[in-house]
Amino acid sequence: MSAPFVFDNSYARDLEGFYTLWPGAVAPAPRILRLNTELAQELGLDPAALDAEVLTGSRAPEGAQPLAMAYAGHQFGGFSPQLGDGRAILLGEVIDSKGARRDIHLKGSGRTPFSRGGDGKAVLGPVLREYLIGEAMQGLGIPTTRALAACTTGEQVLRQNGPEPGAVLARVAASHLRVGTFQFFAARREVDRVAQLLDYAIARHDPDLAGKTASISDRALAFLGRVTARQADLIAAWMSVGFVHGVMNTDNMTISGETIDYGPCAFLDAHHPEAVFSSIDTQGRYAFGNQPGIAQWNLARLAETLLSVIAPGDAEQAIAPVTAVLEGFPDLYRDAWLRRMRAKLGLERAMAGDEALITGLLDLLTAHGADFTRSFRALSGDRAVLTAMISDRPALEDWLGRWQQRAAQEEAPPEAQAARMRAANPVYIPRNHKVEEALTAAGQGDMAPFERLLSLVSAPFDAVPGAEGHALPAPAGFGPYRTFC
Ligand code: AMP
Ligand code: MG
Ligand code: MG
Repeated sequence: MSAPFVFDNSYARDLEGFYTLWPGAVAPAPRILRLNTELAQELGLDPAALDAEVLTGSRAPEGAQPLAMAYAGHQFGGFSPQLGDGRAILLGEVIDSKGARRDIHLKGSGRTPFSRGGDGKAVLGPVLREYLIGEAMQGLGIPTTRALAACTTGEQVLRQNGPEPGAVLARVAASHLRVGTFQFFAARREVDRVAQLLDYAIARHDPDLAGKTASISDRALAFLGRVTARQADLIAAWMSVGFVHGVMNTDNMTISGETIDYGPCAFLDAHHPEAVFSSIDTQGRYAFGNQPGIAQWNLARLAETLLSVIAPGDAEQAIAPVTAVLEGFPDLYRDAWLRRMRAKLGLERAMAGDEALITGLLDLLTAHGADFTRSFRALSGDRAVLTAMISDRPALEDWLGRWQQRAAQEEAPPEAQAARMRAANPVYIPRNHKVEEALTAAGQGDMAPFERLLSLVSAPFDAVPGAEGHALPAPAGFGPYRTFC
């Protein structure tokens, strides 16, 4: 049998003291439920060489150095100085076919020294959910961690509603560096380690900064600027597709700018800035419309960890330059959001009044509880869909008139504008009721609905004949949707 992975483990090698070497638990009867062969190939792996024992952490493949990473985090605003990989291990890193370094990480692979009270396990439903939604994000062109495989372990794991099938998600990420990784060492006042982590992160995600900037203060500020820009882009992308992450704690915010940790997340059906799906987000801290502000708040927590690196001995002096970087977030976010929202309206040029035009439509959708995804897609398709959802005919006609006037100022002809819109407005998102349907069937051994949904959301801009039902919002009987993590 060929070695499945060619590992090059920079985290284990360069960051001793930032993790605990830790093996995965041995699963009683590991079985691959779903393998992402396309991603395996992108990683330069032979899909046939990937087996369930390796993918569940039951057996470490040659060259792996399984480890649990240390990190801290603000959870719903309160600081936890020690979280860490409580149910996951980093198996190792591979260089993909494009030369990019990617983490191979196993979630649900058993207890670690960071487990606190937890059992270290994951269960089938949430594992398949993360697989599905990550692939949907990938299909939408939004930076994301991805599933390499979903496996069952053959054991039953006790959860709120009784025993559930144990499962492990093999996850691929540009890295698992989080805001919370920096917080862990900053909270212990280990300034040297924060500096070491900074240079590791720069080497990995912003290597051009390593050579150019002579002093560590300059590097830290430039790095903060890069993370800020990546997060501004990412959150704008979320907002443009109606994605609600649900648990934007600082331990769930990456340095790479990839979406991570698909726990209680969901996509909007009806557009509303206050939409919340997570059962534990009782205050609406992570509501749809709060996400940009929360991202900036999280970035401020990252910035705090860098103060003593930027101005050793007198962190106060770093506050002004750091604040200047953070204050760039709203404009970066607004620019990224406008770019995406213009594309959704078929507009390429930037003109004064665009923001008012966009918010004008969003306000209409909110007022009428209109389906976000369907409304935007209907702009370049079936207008009757819009008039059915927005009963205030004069208001809709007024907005459509303003949009048509604006569109007439574009250079591209109408057909090109429509094509641009079809490439920016998905037909398929992982709709909550369809996700639930797929997970319920999977729990009963029927993977067909999961496969069907996965296939549609993986190419979400292409309408598929016969899949019209997947483009519709939940039937009224589905009721308000709640997610649990
Ligand atoms: P999350 O809410 O998924 O971002 O996880 C927050 C923290 O809780 C992380 O440190 C996780 O490793 C830990 N955690 C979540 N679920 C479990 C579990 N079942 N067992 C042990 N640790 C867990
Ligand atoms: Mg997490
Ligand atoms: Mg989670």
